[in-house]
Amino acid sequence: MVTRHETYDLSAQNTFGMKVSCRLYVEVTEPEDLLTLDFDALPQPVFVMGGGSNLLFTGDFPGTVLKFAGALPPNDPRGLKALSDFCTSKSPGPGRAPDGAIASLQVPEEILVKVPAGVVFDDFCAWAASEGLWGPENLSLIPGEVGASAVQNIGAYGVEAKDIIDTVHAFDHTTRSFVDIPGADCGYGYRTSLFKTDWKGRYIITSVTFRLSTVPQPKLDYGGVRKAIEKRIEDMGSETYATLGLSEGGAHLWEGRRSQSDRRVSVPIPSIPEESLTPQFIRDTVIGIREQKLPDPKEIGSAGSFFCNPVIDRDHFERIVAIAKAENGPEYEVPHYEVGERVKVPAAWMIDQCGFKGMRLGGAQVYPKQPLVIVNATGKATPEEIVALEQRVIGTIREKYGVELHPEVEHVSSQVTEKQ
Ligand SMILES: Cc1cc2nc3c(=O)[nH]c(=O)nc-3n(C[C@H](O)[C@H](O)[C@H](O)COP(=O)(O)OP(=O)(O)OC[C@H]3O[C@@H](n4cnc5c(N)ncnc54)[C@H](O)[C@@H]3O)c2cc1C
Repeated sequence: MVTRHETYDLSAQNTFGMKVSCRLYVEVTEPEDLLTLDFDALPQPVFVMGGGSNLLFTGDFPGTVLKFAGALPPNDPRGLKALSDFCTSKSPGPGRAPDGAIASLQVPEEILVKVPAGVVFDDFCAWAASEGLWGPENLSLIPGEVGASAVQNIGAYGVEAKDIIDTVHAFDHTTRSFVDIPGADCGYGYRTSLFKTDWKGRYIITSVTFRLSTVPQPKLDYGGVRKAIEKRIEDMGSETYATLGLSEGGAHLWEGRRSQSDRRVSVPIPSIPEESLTPQFIRDTVIGIREQKLPDPKEIGSAGSFFCNPVIDRDHFERIVAIAKAENGPEYEVPHYEVGERVKVPAAWMIDQCGFKGMRLGGAQVYPKQPLVIVNATGKATPEEIVALEQRVIGTIREKYGVELHPEVEHVSSQVTEKQ
């Protein structure tokens, strides 16, 4: 079914809460509906939207916003139930998953799950964890929909969507045909893909086939996941055994702690019994970390990390180290990650060092708990205020560190959407 709304208010459709509208809003419920649309006759440009959680509308949009209808709000139990029914009700196909089905791969430990583009990505993560399937657990609670996950190559805590994407199914509106694109051909990189660059505006993703594993594949070595798991296990004490369903081997490993009468007494933890962790446990841990650091879009408007982390030459990094040591003392260490010959420096660190944490400009604010995020602090921030704060951050960091920050958030302008 296709539904059309003229001059449609997008305030509730973008997590930044920008009060903007589009000239035409078109909702489709089935991929086949796309065949009935005459794209050239729609008000231009045509912009495909998911959950609106990575977008900054910088004004009213003069074209058409196209959306797959039917996605339920995040955490809506009906979403999980619907996904569960959807993924298990249809018969498996040979090697490739037919619409909405789970199919076994040649490798018996892996299964393919084809998920419609309009499903809330976290509903998919919740479903996978509840089924004991490995793959998306570290991506839990990232806002947005399945279709956009394949555009953005969403990532968190050492996992990226590309790690689990088998095939992207899309409608090519230039040829009016449906195509299956192997994940390996999508040009995935850090928060990017060909859908964001060379293919921008061409494909409408209709579903994504993910490759999940039935054997444990815990990824704990990024963003404090391991530490948070250790802390949870310590806090849980002996209940841990029941919750994690530890194997004999795991229980043996934890014998020392088990006998402690005060469960909070610090006993050295030899190592996490990784083979005994469940995707649900990791999911819950990741959600716990995220809830402490990131604003909940239901409470405070944002589009998540506003800037990409810059990757710079080593010489340039050394100059930044010299500035930081001059300011903070000779022992000071600049956080960084090696990326081959180059160095990635957290943009949040630079923003913090420039004194922006918590800074307000009108209703826009650099989020005090995570300076990489710009929020709509009052709920009434205008696009102009967000952009003014963005430009002030970019200008200051350029001046102090000689680094050019680039926004991760996609700016949807009143004329065209900017190719990133
Ligand atoms: C609080 C918060 C935390 C966040 N944390 C993270 C994080 O940890 N990691 C991370 O990677 N991101 C994060 N994000 C950013 C955001 O959640 C992701 O980029 C997400 O994938 C956007 O999904 P969406 O459905 O909202 O897409 P939208 O924002 O609506 O669209 C994003 C892009 O995808 C395109 N698109 C959407 N659907 C389709 C489709 N069906 N076919 C073709 N193109 C399509 C749009 O045209 C646009 O270019 C966060 C955002 C918020 C608000």
